[in-house]
Amino acid sequence: MSAPRVGIGYDSHRFGAGRPLILGGVLIPHDRGLTGHSDADVLTHAVIDALLGAAGLTDIGALFPDTEAAYAGADSIGLLGEVAGRLGAPVGNVDATVVLERPRLGPHREAMRARLAEALGVPAGRVNVKATTNEGMGFVGREEGVAALAVAVLAGD
Ligand code: MG
Repeated sequence: MSAPRVGIGYDSHRFGAGRPLILGGVLIPHDRGLTGHSDADVLTHAVIDALLGAAGLTDIGALFPDTEAAYAGADSIGLLGEVAGRLGAPVGNVDATVVLERPRLGPHREAMRARLAEALGVPAGRVNVKATTNEGMGFVGREEGVAALAVAVLAGD
């Protein structure tokens, strides 16, 4: 019997004009969005890296290179679903924190949990999403971008 495996994920993306803000697969109303090769869903990217870390499957950049045209504008929730199919063990739980000054994510928390959990094929109660500001400090504080952190546990067999 093997022990559960834990993984950590971190990501950040820069704000840009004329982009939708998509976090955890949910379109969040805001005056700007995040820039990137894919849909720049920083939360989902952190969750993907946490899961890949737990499974020992390298990282999101190795699996889905941002130099590949196939991933231009990619739906990150779709990538998460693809990753879920490669893990080789059931997801125990996922916990994530989004670091941003605005907008407030409280009203969207349950939708983000549900969307992430659906892609992973687990009940929403196994996915937790938190948000915090950076108290005005650094790139998050200047509203230049958004950061996200996640941990994931894969069940032992
Ligand atoms: Mg990313």
